[in-house]
This record gives sequence, structure tokens and C-alpha cells, in this order.
Amino acid sequence: MKGWAAVSDFDGTITLRDVGDHLLLHYGFADRKTIEESYSLKVKVEDFMKKAFAGAALSEEVIADFVRKKVRTRPGFREFILFCEAGGVPFEIASGGVDLYADPFFRKHGVEVKSFFGKAKVVKGGIRITYPFLRRTNLSAFKASRVARFQRAGRKVVFFGDGPNDLKAACLADKVYAAGRLLKLCRERNIPAEPLVSYARAAAFIRKNA
Ligand SMILES: [Mg+2]
Repeated sequence: MKGWAAVSDFDGTITLRDVGDHLLLHYGFADRKTIEESYSLKVKVEDFMKKAFAGAALSEEVIADFVRKKVRTRPGFREFILFCEAGGVPFEIASGGVDLYADPFFRKHGVEVKSFFGKAKVVKGGIRITYPFLRRTNLSAFKASRVARFQRAGRKVVFFGDGPNDLKAACLADKVYAAGRLLKLCRERNIPAEPLVSYARAAAFIRKNA
């Protein structure tokens, strides 16, 4: 055993609300019903994101400003990053979100984390999103593959998530902290998961089970 690794979702997990949804709703580019439907297990988050943002006429500045003023962070996140760095615990983020809002978020917190986000480009009338890391797979399978990769390397994995597309990764992980829809899905399927309240709990858990 080489110890622990940590893999986390971003939207609604590291942030308290899904930043993509929040942006779309706030600026009127999507309604609640459309957002709600995107959380069906049958919908691919990456397809929803591409479609939803295609008509979202937002500039980089507007998005960065939104992140600075409106996006709230899960307690203990920054401390957890520092804890992982100090303790040699590899930490990475696998997300269906995009660099346009993730970059200003990490700048705000003054941390750098290994991460996989969609690439967003402001084009005429909207935002074009691509997922270079999803060549032959989908987001849900990709997240699970990052967990499996650490396990093959001999580590146990803590996984953090909140959405239906986090379910596959949660099934594989050795310890799960779940919020929102993921917590509900885990309970329905008897997948052991602790409610994700603060990242501090995970740090304490890793310390205790090192
Ligand atoms: Mg999420």
C-alpha cells in the first residue's frame, strides 16, 4: 500500500453550487427545467454543456467576475489541497466544467491542482466547448478511470462528487464523500458514502487511516 490519492468533481462539489448551471440561470441562457433534465443518468453532461453554452453570449471578464463575486467554495477545500501537498497525497480534479470559470476560481484561491476541465472558447454569439481528454470515452467513465488508475498504482482512493455522472467513480472508490444527487443515488444503491460537508473530514480520515 502506497497510501491514499484523492479524486474530486468540481461543480457542486468543490463549489457549493454547479457553476455552469448557476451561470446559465443567472444570465437567462437556460431555465430550471432544462437544467433539471440534464441530471438524468441518461444525459451526458459533456453534451449538455456544449449545447447549453453554445448560445450563451458571455465574455471572459463577465465569467471571471461572476466567479469572484458569486461562487462559494466548500469549506476546507484550500486546506485540503495544502494537506495533500504536504503529505504526498496525489489530488486531481476530473470535471465536465470548463477552464473559463475554473481558472479564475483557482487564481482566487491561489492554488494549483492537477485537473481535467473542458476547454471553452468565446465565439460569436456563444461559447464553444471541447473536451480534449475525452477522446474515446465519456465523462462518467473517465472519472472512474482516474480512480482505477490510482488503484492500479497501489493506492486507495477518496472520491468526492455530487452528480449522477460521479456514480461510476464512486462505485470504485475506497472512500466516498457525496453531496446532493450523488448522495441520494449512493443511498438507493447501498454504496457506502459519507455526506460531503467539509473537505476537513477527508483530511482527518486520511490522517487516521494512513
Ligand atoms: Mg458536480
